[in-house]
Amino acid sequence: MHLDIPDIKQEVSTGSLPSRGRVDELVTAAYTRYRNHTAGAVADYIPALADADPNLFGVCVVESAGATHAVGDTDTLFSIQSISKAFVYALVCEAFGHEAVHKRVGVNNTGLPFNSVMAIELNHGHPMNPMVNAGALATTALTPGCTFDEKWEGIRATLSDFAGRELVVDDEVYRSESETNMRNKALARLLQSYGRIDIDPLGVVDIYTRQCSLLVTARDLAVMGATLADAGVNPLTGERVVSARVCRDTLAVLASTGMYEGSGDWLFEIGLPAKSGVSGGIVAVAPGKGAVATFSPPLDSAGNSERGQRVIARLSRALGLNLFASSVQVATR
Ligand code: GLU
Repeated sequence: MHLDIPDIKQEVSTGSLPSRGRVDELVTAAYTRYRNHTAGAVADYIPALADADPNLFGVCVVESAGATHAVGDTDTLFSIQSISKAFVYALVCEAFGHEAVHKRVGVNNTGLPFNSVMAIELNHGHPMNPMVNAGALATTALTPGCTFDEKWEGIRATLSDFAGRELVVDDEVYRSESETNMRNKALARLLQSYGRIDIDPLGVVDIYTRQCSLLVTARDLAVMGATLADAGVNPLTGERVVSARVCRDTLAVLASTGMYEGSGDWLFEIGLPAKSGVSGGIVAVAPGKGAVATFSPPLDSAGNSERGQRVIARLSRALGLNLFASSVQVATR
């Protein structure tokens, strides 16, 4: 679909959050409401993830203006997993423009599981979007750098800039996933056969696995999301990480595909672009306002954190974050 939208200056739809004290109260209330919620199961298809403590639970809001509200296990480290896909997509768009990624990868929902081989076959080799494994592998392959070492360093450095601190790999998770990721290797080979990956596919899987193994906290995720909410400037460090245009494009992709097969229901109920990962993290972004991040390992059948989804649904309403919610304005005719 090509809409031929002229390149005109665009106003942004921003509003304001409640007062800091009120946000603190609402974050604490949401945490308390779901602290004893026990539904879901910890992911175990990557052996190292099976050991996660299902009781861990943290909620963090970082405002675009920099204020932080954190309750629970918001400084516990866990591997970022699929949430890395959002930020690597932003990195590639920043380097080469979103058209390049759009052409190679696409932005439409597959309607199929995140690691589907069938989705590639049904779409004649097109990976469809950068938030499923096939599209993420094709996106990681596009990262700038002549060698895999250069590509990896660019990924690690950019995700660190989003977080505002140096991120490192969890070696145990990296090793565990490397030993069991035959399916991702198969996806990469299949993409190579369709010309969607034109460098060594196993090298691509290796740096993709490393990007998924980067250690973050719920607080880091909230800062990373708040950077996307703040037109690409990290609200804590003041550093510009990507352009405002790249944030807009990344959030559009997250809105349609960030929550696995639950993406449509999520947008309908919560009204925010978000990304989740199988280690139990979720980050949801309210453009111009900030980001909410949660960490709680037990997942539903689509792979989204049970408690995380509930907390963010509640905060989206309580903080007035839903992008589709409006109130009547007094006419000025
Ligand atoms: N590294 C994981 C995989 O490729 C990421 C899965 C996820 O978080 O969705 O299977």
